[in-house]
Amino acid sequence: MSTWDDNSGTTETSTFNALPQPRPSRLSTPHWDGCKEGQLVAQQCQTCLQYAFPPQSFCPHCISDSLEWQICSGKGRIYSFTEIHRGQTPAFETPYIAAIIALDEGWHMLSNIVACSAEELSIDQPVTVTFIERGESMIPCFMPT
Ligand SMILES: [Zn+2]
Repeated sequence: MSTWDDNSGTTETSTFNALPQPRPSRLSTPHWDGCKEGQLVAQQCQTCLQYAFPPQSFCPHCISDSLEWQICSGKGRIYSFTEIHRGQTPAFETPYIAAIIALDEGWHMLSNIVACSAEELSIDQPVTVTFIERGESMIPCFMPT
């Protein structure tokens, strides 16, 4: 048994040998369904036109409940990034890059940057979404444009 299992604090020890899977909720299912179709979708408030992400019941900007799912461009810029050398579990292949992406539509998303090294990246660099298969889901990640 690895130290990960000793410190897990969960009874789901099998999850420590596999990458975590998305567990879509009533709110987030449209986002994950979009990913399966190769589309990055997010809620846009029909009152103030700002985006809400992660999925919300009410607009975090104006409290309107008039949120509609929109297909986004999948294009953005690197707001911040870091290189991870110790994964959350042994299932994570290291190093990998965690990043906050500022989407062109004005919302931010925590994701991973793939197919490059941290040395190739810089703040404000343009990136484009790509979808990585994980189990039955597609995970939205980003690549330099
Ligand atoms: Zn709003």
